[in-house]
Amino acid sequence: MAATFMRMLILLSLLLCLFASGGTGRGEQRPPVRYLLSYTAPRITSVHLRIELPGAATATRTLVIPRAVPMGYGEEPYDQFVGRVAAFDPGGKPLEVARGDGPRWRVGPAARVEYDVDLARMEQQIHDATDSSRVRPGYASFLGYSVFGFFEGEEARAIELQIEAPNGWPVVSTLAPAGASLRAEDFYALADSQIAMGPALHVERVRVAPATSPPLYLALYAEADADPVRLARLAGEAYTKMMAYFGTAPFFHYTVLLEILKPVSPEHEYGFGMEHLESFHSTLDASGPGMSDLGLTYHIAHHMAHAWIPKRCYGEGYFPFRWDAAPKIDTIWFSEGFAQYAAIAALAASEEQRQQMLERRFRSVLQEAAPELRRLPLRELSVVASTQYASDFRIGKLTFSRGGLMAAEMDDRIRTETHGEKSLRDALRHLMAWSAAHHRAFRIEELSVRFREATGVETRDILERWLAPLN
Ligand SMILES: [Zn+2]
Repeated sequence: MAATFMRMLILLSLLLCLFASGGTGRGEQRPPVRYLLSYTAPRITSVHLRIELPGAATATRTLVIPRAVPMGYGEEPYDQFVGRVAAFDPGGKPLEVARGDGPRWRVGPAARVEYDVDLARMEQQIHDATDSSRVRPGYASFLGYSVFGFFEGEEARAIELQIEAPNGWPVVSTLAPAGASLRAEDFYALADSQIAMGPALHVERVRVAPATSPPLYLALYAEADADPVRLARLAGEAYTKMMAYFGTAPFFHYTVLLEILKPVSPEHEYGFGMEHLESFHSTLDASGPGMSDLGLTYHIAHHMAHAWIPKRCYGEGYFPFRWDAAPKIDTIWFSEGFAQYAAIAALAASEEQRQQMLERRFRSVLQEAAPELRRLPLRELSVVASTQYASDFRIGKLTFSRGGLMAAEMDDRIRTETHGEKSLRDALRHLMAWSAAHHRAFRIEELSVRFREATGVETRDILERWLAPLN
Protein backbone atom coordinates (compact mmCIF):
# COMPACT_ATOMS: atom_id res chain seq x y z
CA MET A 1 0.00 0.00 0.00
CA ALA A 2 2.75 2.44 1.04
CA ALA A 3 4.64 1.88 -2.23
CA THR A 4 1.48 2.49 -4.29
CA PHE A 5 0.81 5.64 -2.29
CA MET A 6 4.36 6.85 -2.93
CA ARG A 7 4.04 6.14 -6.65
CA MET A 8 0.80 8.14 -6.72
CA LEU A 9 2.48 11.04 -4.90
CA ILE A 10 5.38 11.05 -7.39
CA LEU A 11 2.95 10.94 -10.31
CA LEU A 12 0.91 13.77 -8.81
CA SER A 13 3.97 15.98 -8.26
CA LEU A 14 5.14 15.27 -11.82
CA LEU A 15 1.75 16.34 -13.12
CA LEU A 16 1.84 19.49 -10.98
CA CYS A 17 5.30 20.34 -12.35
CA LEU A 18 4.03 19.87 -15.89
CA PHE A 19 1.11 22.26 -15.32
CA ALA A 20 3.33 24.79 -13.53
CA SER A 21 5.76 24.85 -16.45
CA GLY A 22 2.99 25.63 -18.91
CA GLY A 23 2.14 22.09 -19.98
CA THR A 24 3.22 20.89 -23.38
CA GLY A 25 5.27 23.84 -24.52
CA ARG A 26 2.44 25.79 -26.14
CA GLY A 27 4.26 28.91 -25.11
CA GLU A 28 1.80 30.54 -22.71
CA GLN A 29 4.59 31.29 -20.24
CA ARG A 30 7.04 32.78 -22.71
CA PRO A 31 7.23 36.54 -23.26
CA PRO A 32 5.57 37.75 -26.46
CA VAL A 33 7.55 38.14 -29.67
CA ARG A 34 7.99 41.87 -30.37
CA TYR A 35 7.30 43.23 -33.86
CA LEU A 36 7.99 46.74 -35.09
CA LEU A 37 6.62 47.98 -38.42
CA SER A 38 8.33 51.20 -39.34
CA TYR A 39 7.06 53.40 -42.18
CA THR A 40 8.38 56.78 -41.19
CA ALA A 41 8.37 59.13 -44.17
CA PRO A 42 5.55 59.89 -46.62
CA ARG A 43 6.16 58.63 -50.19
CA ILE A 44 8.91 56.13 -49.37
CA THR A 45 8.12 52.90 -51.17
CA SER A 46 9.46 50.36 -48.69
CA VAL A 47 8.69 49.43 -45.10
CA HIS A 48 11.12 48.32 -42.41
CA LEU A 49 10.37 45.37 -40.10
CA ARG A 50 12.01 44.26 -36.88
CA ILE A 51 11.24 40.99 -35.05
CA GLU A 52 12.64 40.35 -31.58
CA LEU A 53 12.50 37.18 -29.49
CA PRO A 54 12.92 38.30 -25.88
CA GLY A 55 14.47 35.81 -23.48
CA ALA A 56 15.07 33.26 -26.22
CA ALA A 57 17.50 30.43 -25.62
CA THR A 58 20.41 30.28 -28.06
CA ALA A 59 19.39 28.17 -31.04
CA THR A 60 19.87 28.17 -34.78
CA ARG A 61 16.90 29.98 -36.30
CA THR A 62 15.16 30.40 -39.63
CA LEU A 63 13.17 33.42 -40.80
CA VAL A 64 10.16 32.54 -42.96
CA ILE A 65 8.15 34.98 -45.09
CA PRO A 66 4.65 33.76 -46.04
CA ARG A 67 3.84 32.71 -49.58
CA ALA A 68 0.41 31.19 -48.97
CA VAL A 69 -2.51 33.57 -48.43
CA PRO A 70 -4.86 32.27 -45.71
CA MET A 71 -8.19 31.44 -47.37
CA GLY A 72 -6.78 32.96 -50.55
CA TYR A 73 -6.49 29.51 -52.17
CA GLY A 74 -3.29 30.49 -53.88
CA GLU A 75 0.21 31.78 -53.34
CA GLU A 76 2.02 35.08 -53.78
CA PRO A 77 5.84 35.35 -53.77
CA TYR A 78 6.08 37.84 -50.88
CA ASP A 79 9.63 36.68 -50.10
CA GLN A 80 10.78 38.16 -53.43
CA PHE A 81 10.12 41.69 -52.18
CA VAL A 82 12.18 41.24 -49.00
CA GLY A 83 15.67 42.71 -48.91
CA ARG A 84 18.50 43.72 -46.57
CA VAL A 85 17.83 40.91 -44.10
CA ALA A 86 20.02 41.41 -41.01
CA ALA A 87 20.25 39.23 -37.90
CA PHE A 88 21.65 39.91 -34.42
CA ASP A 89 22.46 37.71 -31.44
CA PRO A 90 21.08 38.47 -27.93
CA GLY A 91 24.04 40.80 -27.31
CA GLY A 92 23.34 42.77 -30.50
CA LYS A 93 26.26 41.32 -32.48
CA PRO A 94 25.53 41.00 -36.23
CA LEU A 95 25.22 37.45 -37.53
CA GLU A 96 25.71 35.89 -40.93
CA VAL A 97 22.52 35.56 -42.97
CA ALA A 98 22.08 33.03 -45.78
CA ARG A 99 19.18 32.48 -48.15
CA GLY A 100 17.62 29.04 -47.53
CA ASP A 101 15.15 26.92 -49.51
CA GLY A 102 11.77 28.41 -50.38
CA PRO A 103 10.82 31.61 -48.56
CA ARG A 104 13.48 31.12 -45.85
CA TRP A 105 16.60 32.77 -44.50
CA ARG A 106 19.04 31.03 -42.14
CA VAL A 107 19.80 33.60 -39.46
CA GLY A 108 22.00 31.63 -37.00
CA PRO A 109 21.40 32.08 -33.25
CA ALA A 110 19.42 35.28 -33.88
CA ALA A 111 17.39 37.00 -31.17
CA ARG A 112 16.45 39.79 -33.60
CA VAL A 113 16.03 40.14 -37.35
CA GLU A 114 15.39 43.21 -39.46
CA TYR A 115 14.49 43.56 -43.13
CA ASP A 116 12.86 45.82 -45.70
CA VAL A 117 9.90 45.05 -47.95
CA ASP A 118 9.71 46.77 -51.35
CA LEU A 119 6.04 47.77 -51.54
CA ALA A 120 6.21 49.45 -54.95
CA ARG A 121 7.59 46.31 -56.58
CA MET A 122 5.06 44.16 -54.70
CA GLU A 123 2.16 46.16 -56.09
CA GLN A 124 3.58 46.19 -59.62
CA GLN A 125 4.21 42.45 -59.73
CA ILE A 126 1.17 41.09 -57.87
CA HIS A 127 -1.74 41.58 -60.23
CA ASP A 128 -4.47 40.53 -57.81
CA ALA A 129 -4.91 43.90 -56.11
CA THR A 130 -6.43 42.24 -53.03
CA ASP A 131 -3.15 40.42 -52.33
CA SER A 132 -0.89 43.48 -52.20
CA SER A 133 0.14 46.19 -49.77
CA ARG A 134 0.47 49.69 -51.25
CA VAL A 135 1.69 53.24 -50.71
CA ARG A 136 0.26 56.46 -52.13
CA PRO A 137 0.75 60.14 -51.35
CA GLY A 138 -0.90 60.55 -47.95
CA TYR A 139 -1.70 56.87 -47.57
CA ALA A 140 -0.16 53.44 -46.94
CA SER A 141 -1.76 50.04 -46.27
CA PHE A 142 -0.12 46.81 -45.18
CA LEU A 143 -1.52 43.29 -45.38
CA GLY A 144 -0.09 41.36 -42.45
CA TYR A 145 0.99 38.26 -44.38
CA SER A 146 2.61 40.34 -47.13
CA VAL A 147 5.11 42.00 -44.76
CA PHE A 148 5.35 40.02 -41.50
CA GLY A 149 7.69 37.04 -41.32
CA PHE A 150 8.26 34.73 -38.36
CA PHE A 151 10.89 32.56 -36.72
CA GLU A 152 10.14 29.00 -37.80
CA GLY A 153 8.70 27.01 -34.88
CA GLU A 154 7.65 30.13 -32.92
CA GLU A 155 4.31 30.69 -34.69
CA ALA A 156 2.24 29.87 -31.59
CA ARG A 157 3.78 32.58 -29.42
CA ALA A 158 1.84 35.72 -28.54
CA ILE A 159 2.91 38.93 -30.26
CA GLU A 160 3.17 42.61 -29.39
CA LEU A 161 3.13 44.98 -32.36
CA GLN A 162 4.40 48.53 -32.50
CA ILE A 163 3.83 50.77 -35.51
CA GLU A 164 5.84 53.85 -36.46
CA ALA A 165 4.18 56.18 -38.97
CA PRO A 166 5.12 59.56 -40.45
CA ASN A 167 4.61 62.47 -38.06
CA GLY A 168 0.97 63.36 -37.62
CA TRP A 169 -0.38 60.43 -39.67
CA PRO A 170 -3.37 58.63 -38.15
CA VAL A 171 -2.91 54.84 -37.96
CA VAL A 172 -5.49 52.08 -37.72
CA SER A 173 -4.76 48.40 -37.10
CA THR A 174 -7.54 45.85 -37.37
CA LEU A 175 -6.07 44.26 -34.20
CA ALA A 176 -7.43 47.23 -32.21
CA PRO A 177 -9.22 49.73 -34.46
CA ALA A 178 -10.15 51.94 -31.50
CA GLY A 179 -6.44 52.36 -30.82
CA ALA A 180 -5.43 50.29 -27.79
CA SER A 181 -2.09 48.49 -27.52
CA LEU A 182 -1.63 45.98 -30.33
CA ARG A 183 -1.43 42.32 -29.38
CA ALA A 184 -2.03 39.16 -31.38
CA GLU A 185 -2.51 35.76 -29.80
CA ASP A 186 -0.20 34.10 -32.33
CA PHE A 187 1.43 34.66 -35.71
CA TYR A 188 -1.76 33.75 -37.59
CA ALA A 189 -3.68 36.55 -35.88
CA LEU A 190 -0.90 39.05 -36.67
CA ALA A 191 -0.53 37.91 -40.28
CA ASP A 192 -4.30 38.04 -40.78
CA SER A 193 -4.50 41.68 -39.62
CA GLN A 194 -4.14 44.86 -41.70
CA ILE A 195 -2.76 48.31 -41.06
CA ALA A 196 -3.77 51.51 -42.84
CA MET A 197 -2.45 55.00 -42.23
CA GLY A 198 -2.24 58.53 -43.53
CA PRO A 199 -4.23 61.75 -43.84
CA ALA A 200 -6.03 60.38 -46.92
CA LEU A 201 -7.53 57.57 -44.83
CA HIS A 202 -11.08 57.97 -43.55
CA VAL A 203 -11.96 55.99 -40.41
CA GLU A 204 -15.25 55.99 -38.56
CA ARG A 205 -17.17 53.88 -36.13
CA VAL A 206 -20.37 52.74 -37.83
CA ARG A 207 -23.64 52.84 -35.97
CA VAL A 208 -25.17 49.34 -35.85
CA ALA A 209 -28.22 47.68 -34.39
CA PRO A 210 -28.41 46.33 -31.80
CA ALA A 211 -26.02 48.77 -30.14
CA THR A 212 -24.70 45.92 -27.98
CA SER A 213 -23.03 44.32 -31.05
CA PRO A 214 -19.22 44.43 -31.12
CA PRO A 215 -18.21 47.79 -32.62
CA LEU A 216 -17.95 48.04 -36.40
CA TYR A 217 -15.41 50.33 -38.09
CA LEU A 218 -15.18 51.54 -41.66
CA ALA A 219 -11.71 52.41 -42.98
CA LEU A 220 -11.84 53.96 -46.45
CA TYR A 221 -9.27 55.15 -48.95
CA ALA A 222 -10.63 56.33 -52.29
CA GLU A 223 -8.99 57.61 -55.48
CA ALA A 224 -12.36 58.62 -56.89
CA ASP A 225 -15.48 60.26 -55.51
CA ALA A 226 -16.79 58.01 -52.78
CA ASP A 227 -19.69 58.47 -50.42
CA PRO A 228 -18.60 57.43 -46.93
CA VAL A 229 -22.14 57.90 -45.62
CA ARG A 230 -23.52 55.37 -48.12
CA LEU A 231 -20.63 52.93 -47.57
CA ALA A 232 -21.04 53.09 -43.79
CA ARG A 233 -24.79 52.54 -44.13
CA LEU A 234 -24.34 49.47 -46.36
CA ALA A 235 -21.57 48.04 -44.13
CA GLY A 236 -23.83 48.57 -41.10
CA GLU A 237 -26.76 46.81 -42.80
CA ALA A 238 -24.60 43.85 -43.84
CA TYR A 239 -23.16 43.58 -40.32
CA THR A 240 -26.54 43.75 -38.59
CA LYS A 241 -27.91 41.00 -40.83
CA MET A 242 -24.93 38.67 -40.46
CA MET A 243 -24.94 39.13 -36.68
CA ALA A 244 -28.65 38.29 -36.65
CA TYR A 245 -28.04 35.21 -38.83
CA PHE A 246 -25.27 33.66 -36.75
CA GLY A 247 -26.59 34.88 -33.39
CA THR A 248 -23.25 35.32 -31.64
CA ALA A 249 -20.08 37.18 -32.59
CA PRO A 250 -16.72 35.40 -32.57
CA PHE A 251 -14.81 38.74 -32.37
CA PHE A 252 -14.69 41.83 -30.15
CA HIS A 253 -14.69 44.35 -33.02
CA TYR A 254 -14.85 44.23 -36.80
CA THR A 255 -13.31 46.44 -39.49
CA VAL A 256 -14.34 46.88 -43.12
CA LEU A 257 -11.32 48.23 -45.05
CA LEU A 258 -12.32 49.50 -48.50
CA GLU A 259 -9.83 50.76 -51.04
CA ILE A 260 -11.22 52.34 -54.22
CA LEU A 261 -8.24 52.43 -56.55
CA LYS A 262 -7.28 53.66 -60.00
CA PRO A 263 -5.92 50.57 -61.77
CA VAL A 264 -2.13 50.33 -61.73
CA SER A 265 -2.15 48.58 -65.12
CA PRO A 266 -4.61 46.78 -67.41
CA GLU A 267 -3.26 43.48 -66.04
CA HIS A 268 -4.20 44.34 -62.46
CA GLU A 269 -7.49 42.91 -61.19
CA TYR A 270 -9.87 44.70 -58.84
CA GLY A 271 -13.29 43.97 -57.38
CA PHE A 272 -12.37 41.13 -55.04
CA GLY A 273 -12.39 40.96 -51.25
CA MET A 274 -10.45 38.98 -48.67
CA GLU A 275 -11.78 37.83 -45.33
CA HIS A 276 -9.93 37.88 -42.03
CA LEU A 277 -10.56 36.94 -38.38
CA GLU A 278 -11.96 40.34 -37.42
CA SER A 279 -11.94 42.32 -40.66
CA PHE A 280 -12.30 42.17 -44.41
CA HIS A 281 -10.57 44.22 -47.04
CA SER A 282 -11.63 44.90 -50.58
CA THR A 283 -9.97 46.63 -53.52
CA LEU A 284 -12.56 48.16 -55.82
CA ASP A 285 -11.95 49.69 -59.25
CA ALA A 286 -12.28 53.48 -59.17
CA SER A 287 -12.75 53.53 -62.94
CA GLY A 288 -15.45 50.83 -62.96
CA PRO A 289 -19.23 51.32 -62.96
CA GLY A 290 -19.51 50.77 -59.18
CA MET A 291 -21.79 48.30 -57.45
CA SER A 292 -25.50 48.60 -56.72
CA ASP A 293 -26.54 48.91 -53.07
CA LEU A 294 -27.57 45.24 -52.98
CA GLY A 295 -24.41 44.14 -54.82
CA LEU A 296 -22.13 45.96 -52.42
CA THR A 297 -24.08 44.92 -49.33
CA TYR A 298 -23.81 41.31 -50.51
CA HIS A 299 -20.06 41.73 -51.20
CA ILE A 300 -19.57 42.95 -47.61
CA ALA A 301 -21.96 40.40 -46.02
CA HIS A 302 -20.35 37.51 -47.92
CA HIS A 303 -16.91 38.37 -46.55
CA MET A 304 -18.24 39.02 -43.06
CA ALA A 305 -19.82 35.54 -43.12
CA HIS A 306 -16.31 34.14 -43.51
CA ALA A 307 -15.45 35.35 -39.98
CA TRP A 308 -17.72 32.44 -38.93
CA ILE A 309 -17.18 30.10 -41.92
CA PRO A 310 -14.39 29.02 -42.34
CA LYS A 311 -12.41 31.18 -39.89
CA ARG A 312 -14.09 29.56 -36.86
CA CYS A 313 -15.79 26.53 -38.37
CA TYR A 314 -13.89 24.62 -41.02
CA GLY A 315 -13.10 21.35 -42.72
CA GLU A 316 -9.74 19.63 -42.55
CA GLY A 317 -6.64 21.47 -43.81
CA TYR A 318 -7.43 25.06 -42.73
CA PHE A 319 -5.66 25.07 -39.35
CA PRO A 320 -2.89 25.04 -38.35
CA PHE A 321 -2.06 27.06 -41.43
CA ARG A 322 1.02 26.36 -43.58
CA TRP A 323 2.65 29.59 -44.68
CA ASP A 324 5.12 28.40 -47.30
CA ALA A 325 2.67 26.73 -49.70
CA ALA A 326 -1.11 26.76 -50.15
CA PRO A 327 -2.67 23.74 -48.40
CA LYS A 328 -4.84 21.25 -50.31
CA ILE A 329 -8.39 21.47 -48.95
CA ASP A 330 -11.38 19.36 -49.99
CA THR A 331 -14.11 21.46 -48.30
CA ILE A 332 -13.87 24.81 -50.08
CA TRP A 333 -17.41 24.13 -51.36
CA PHE A 334 -18.50 24.41 -47.69
CA SER A 335 -16.32 27.38 -46.73
CA GLU A 336 -17.31 29.40 -49.78
CA GLY A 337 -20.69 27.95 -50.72
CA PHE A 338 -22.25 27.81 -47.24
CA ALA A 339 -20.82 31.21 -46.20
CA GLN A 340 -22.16 32.83 -49.37
CA TYR A 341 -25.49 31.08 -48.94
CA ALA A 342 -25.65 32.40 -45.35
CA ALA A 343 -25.17 35.92 -46.72
CA ILE A 344 -27.93 35.36 -49.31
CA ALA A 345 -30.33 33.91 -46.72
CA ALA A 346 -29.54 36.77 -44.32
CA LEU A 347 -29.97 39.56 -46.89
CA ALA A 348 -32.88 38.37 -49.04
CA ALA A 349 -35.95 40.43 -48.17
CA SER A 350 -38.32 37.92 -49.81
CA GLU A 351 -38.43 34.41 -51.26
CA GLU A 352 -38.44 35.95 -54.72
CA GLN A 353 -35.24 37.87 -53.96
CA ARG A 354 -33.59 34.76 -52.48
CA GLN A 355 -34.35 32.88 -55.70
CA GLN A 356 -32.98 35.73 -57.82
CA MET A 357 -29.75 35.79 -55.82
CA LEU A 358 -29.38 31.99 -56.04
CA GLU A 359 -29.93 32.22 -59.78
CA ARG A 360 -27.40 34.98 -60.33
CA ARG A 361 -24.73 33.73 -57.94
CA PHE A 362 -24.94 29.92 -58.27
CA ARG A 363 -27.34 28.41 -60.85
CA SER A 364 -26.07 30.48 -63.78
CA VAL A 365 -22.54 29.22 -63.02
CA LEU A 366 -23.67 25.60 -63.20
CA GLN A 367 -25.36 26.16 -66.55
CA GLU A 368 -22.15 27.53 -68.08
CA ALA A 369 -19.70 25.12 -66.42
CA ALA A 370 -17.15 23.33 -68.62
CA PRO A 371 -17.76 19.56 -69.00
CA GLU A 372 -14.31 18.63 -67.63
CA LEU A 373 -15.07 20.54 -64.42
CA ARG A 374 -18.64 19.18 -64.13
CA ARG A 375 -17.25 15.65 -64.26
CA LEU A 376 -15.04 16.18 -61.18
CA PRO A 377 -16.43 15.00 -57.83
CA LEU A 378 -16.84 18.07 -55.61
CA ARG A 379 -14.03 17.15 -53.21
CA GLU A 380 -11.62 16.80 -56.14
CA LEU A 381 -12.77 20.11 -57.63
CA SER A 382 -12.12 21.70 -54.22
CA VAL A 383 -8.57 20.31 -54.14
CA VAL A 384 -7.95 21.87 -57.56
CA ALA A 385 -9.47 25.13 -56.28
CA SER A 386 -7.03 25.06 -53.33
CA THR A 387 -4.41 26.63 -55.59
CA GLN A 388 -6.40 27.79 -58.65
CA TYR A 389 -9.52 29.32 -57.09
CA ALA A 390 -8.95 32.83 -58.44
CA SER A 391 -6.27 32.18 -61.08
CA ASP A 392 -8.91 30.26 -63.09
CA PHE A 393 -12.09 31.65 -61.56
CA ARG A 394 -14.24 29.07 -63.43
CA ILE A 395 -12.87 26.62 -60.85
CA GLY A 396 -13.56 28.92 -57.89
CA LYS A 397 -17.07 29.77 -59.09
CA LEU A 398 -18.10 26.18 -59.75
CA THR A 399 -16.77 25.13 -56.33
CA PHE A 400 -18.78 27.73 -54.41
CA SER A 401 -21.86 27.36 -56.62
CA ARG A 402 -22.16 23.60 -56.02
CA GLY A 403 -21.70 24.22 -52.27
CA GLY A 404 -24.16 27.11 -52.26
CA LEU A 405 -26.86 25.09 -54.00
CA MET A 406 -26.25 22.19 -51.60
CA ALA A 407 -26.83 24.63 -48.72
CA ALA A 408 -29.99 26.01 -50.36
CA GLU A 409 -31.44 22.52 -50.86
CA MET A 410 -30.68 21.58 -47.24
CA ASP A 411 -32.30 24.82 -46.05
CA ASP A 412 -35.43 24.11 -48.11
CA ARG A 413 -35.75 20.60 -46.72
CA ILE A 414 -35.19 21.65 -43.09
CA ARG A 415 -37.81 24.41 -43.42
CA THR A 416 -40.33 22.09 -45.07
CA GLU A 417 -39.93 19.16 -42.69
CA THR A 418 -40.03 21.36 -39.58
CA HIS A 419 -42.92 23.44 -40.94
CA GLY A 420 -40.78 26.55 -40.76
CA GLU A 421 -39.69 25.96 -37.15
CA LYS A 422 -36.03 25.41 -38.08
CA SER A 423 -33.73 26.29 -40.95
CA LEU A 424 -30.14 25.81 -42.06
CA ARG A 425 -29.35 28.78 -39.82
CA ASP A 426 -30.01 26.58 -36.74
CA ALA A 427 -27.82 23.83 -38.21
CA LEU A 428 -24.95 26.25 -38.84
CA ARG A 429 -25.26 27.86 -35.39
CA HIS A 430 -25.03 24.39 -33.88
CA LEU A 431 -22.00 23.51 -36.00
CA MET A 432 -20.38 26.78 -34.89
CA ALA A 433 -20.94 25.97 -31.21
CA TRP A 434 -19.63 22.43 -31.79
CA SER A 435 -16.48 23.81 -33.49
CA ALA A 436 -15.86 26.25 -30.61
CA ALA A 437 -16.24 23.44 -28.07
CA HIS A 438 -14.11 20.86 -29.89
CA HIS A 439 -11.34 23.07 -31.40
CA ARG A 440 -11.03 20.87 -34.47
CA ALA A 441 -12.03 20.59 -38.09
CA PHE A 442 -15.21 18.68 -38.89
CA ARG A 443 -14.97 15.65 -41.14
CA ILE A 444 -17.26 15.83 -44.16
CA GLU A 445 -19.32 12.83 -43.04
CA GLU A 446 -19.98 14.57 -39.71
CA LEU A 447 -21.80 17.50 -41.32
CA SER A 448 -25.17 15.85 -41.71
CA VAL A 449 -24.85 14.35 -38.21
CA ARG A 450 -24.42 17.84 -36.69
CA PHE A 451 -27.25 19.22 -38.82
CA ARG A 452 -29.58 16.41 -37.71
CA GLU A 453 -28.70 17.06 -34.05
CA ALA A 454 -29.75 20.68 -34.50
CA THR A 455 -32.87 20.23 -36.60
CA GLY A 456 -33.95 16.58 -36.51
CA VAL A 457 -33.81 16.57 -40.32
CA GLU A 458 -31.70 14.13 -42.41
CA THR A 459 -29.58 15.85 -45.08
CA ARG A 460 -27.02 13.13 -45.82
CA ASP A 461 -28.50 12.23 -49.21
CA ILE A 462 -28.33 15.89 -50.28
CA LEU A 463 -24.68 16.07 -49.19
CA GLU A 464 -23.79 12.89 -51.08
CA ARG A 465 -25.62 13.92 -54.26
CA TRP A 466 -23.85 17.30 -54.43
CA LEU A 467 -20.45 15.69 -53.71
CA ALA A 468 -20.88 13.45 -56.76
CA PRO A 469 -19.99 14.59 -60.30
CA LEU A 470 -22.68 16.73 -61.94
CA ASN A 471 -24.66 14.89 -64.58
ZN1 LIG B 1 -15.76 34.09 -50.14
